Amino acid sequence: MTTQLVWFKRDLRAHDNAALMNAARLGPVLCLYIIEPSYWCNSDSSQRQFSFLRECLRDLYLHLQALNAKLYLVTGEVVDVLERLHHLQPLAALHSHMETGNVLTFERDKAVARWCAKHQIHWHEYQQQGVVRRLASRDSWSRRWEEFMTTSQCFVDQISALELPWPIESWPDWHAWNRPSDQPPQRQTGGRTVALATLRDFLDERCATYRGGISSPLSAPSACSRISPYLSWGCLSMREVVQATAEKLSMLPPDSRASKGLQGFLSRLHWHCHFIQKLESEPEIEWRNMHRGYDGLREPDWNEANFKALIEARTGWPLVDACVVMLRETGWLNFRMRAMLVSVAAYPLWLHWKPFGDWLATQFVDYEPGIHWSQMQMQSGTTGINTTRVYNPIKQAQDHDPHGRFVRRWLPVLRKVPDSWLFEPWKMPPDVQAHCGVIIGKDWPLPPVELESATRNAKNVLHARRAQPEVKSEKSAIVERHGSRLRPQTKARKAVAAQDVKQGSFEF
Ligand SMILES: Cc1cc2nc3c(=O)[nH]c(=O)nc-3n(C[C@H](O)[C@H](O)[C@H](O)COP(=O)(O)OP(=O)(O)OC[C@H]3O[C@@H](n4cnc5c(N)ncnc54)[C@H](O)[C@@H]3O)c2cc1C
Repeated sequence: MTTQLVWFKRDLRAHDNAALMNAARLGPVLCLYIIEPSYWCNSDSSQRQFSFLRECLRDLYLHLQALNAKLYLVTGEVVDVLERLHHLQPLAALHSHMETGNVLTFERDKAVARWCAKHQIHWHEYQQQGVVRRLASRDSWSRRWEEFMTTSQCFVDQISALELPWPIESWPDWHAWNRPSDQPPQRQTGGRTVALATLRDFLDERCATYRGGISSPLSAPSACSRISPYLSWGCLSMREVVQATAEKLSMLPPDSRASKGLQGFLSRLHWHCHFIQKLESEPEIEWRNMHRGYDGLREPDWNEANFKALIEARTGWPLVDACVVMLRETGWLNFRMRAMLVSVAAYPLWLHWKPFGDWLATQFVDYEPGIHWSQMQMQSGTTGINTTRVYNPIKQAQDHDPHGRFVRRWLPVLRKVPDSWLFEPWKMPPDVQAHCGVIIGKDWPLPPVELESATRNAKNVLHARRAQPEVKSEKSAIVERHGSRLRPQTKARKAVAAQDVKQGSFEF
């Protein structure tokens, strides 16, 4: 008997799964998820993601069972598993979605392609979202995104299922890989069932607070959709989310708060693919500057003490430390707070984006390499095409947590600090410190650098590099490769866009 092998990757759903649907049409199917030790030992993975994955797989198992199929979990490197499987049960074809992952999965996919070619096994790779493989030009990208999102979703109702030709394996022990324990108590739960409930709840209720609610870390946890981990792990397909949103939008009065919220949400679904496309087109941005003119800028100055202070929530800047604690406890932060953390790392603390990005990746349950590395570079000023965005953590606290509720929630030690000192506790006079029981230097750290001067120096160094003729001249090639073409191309708009590029304020 020949086998259609469905290799589940970051597409942990039976619904709208082109790999599953097409394999099932061709013959008996074996459904497999491969747990790769090399992936889980890499610097950007963590136990919180591994636990989330397990929940996703449990749910997928039940959904496949309802279709008469069984999901098998195998631990090993992919080519080794394929080799063993093919030896015991010849494969007719391999089916999976295209993946825009980290360098490890990129190299692994190339090895799989070589293995398939050697054994003359056809590898059917299906488009998973709006990301286009071997994209020749960005000009047609938006049109192709729209086309993909408006095509029909894939359904499968009948699967002729095959069994794994060796005994069922148990879930691997995380600690056998010598990786740190990491179980945030308030992380989102994995799996399509929760994903669908989260999406429904957002579309029916919470979207009304999306506009205006997504920037403050206080309101964001409920105002944002919270579907990011489900998109990253593929419990939901991007197409079904876009279509469900469009359907809901068509039922709402255009000026309603809910409609405005969903319009903003829909544009972020575009961004999702837009950012991943950058990594798809240029995998190197995971480890080197998108604009090579910024090479050598921060690398020589690595400051381990600053890095440790940041990741251990000891910078002394309350909003920064509160965000790190929230991330540690939940595995999620809203966009603005993520951007602020990177800005603090990149400017006053002058840290290179790669090591900090690796650490942040382990903290995000929704880690999506394409979005993550593009954003890390954008917020650190190394893309060469974006405005320098520097977030002052004290101003951000005043704007988005004016009464200090967020800071006090995540940093109990500061609960008794009066409002007037809360965002700059190091300025508290000794008698106030004694009164509220927070002695600076003992109960609360002094910031590692003086915020204003360190930020100013960092911006000056970056802008001096940006002003160099060879750095300036590279910019248009990067815009050509990665820049969004979403703006309407009227003559006036073109002139504005050209000006934006000149000033370095091109949106993406
Ligand atoms: C430094 C940095 C790193 C990031 N890393 C990731 C990551 O690893 N994975 C990830 O999913 N998002 C990442 N983001 C983008 C964004 O912060 C999250 O997508 C968002 O906070 C997820 O919450 P949500 O699903 O409630 O978002 P919503 O606001 O409800 O947005 C819906 C969806 O749109 C997409 N989206 C939203 N904002 C953006 C954006 N700015 N760029 C691209 N797509 C977006 C996401 O898929 C998100 O799930 C990062 C942002 C920054 C600044």
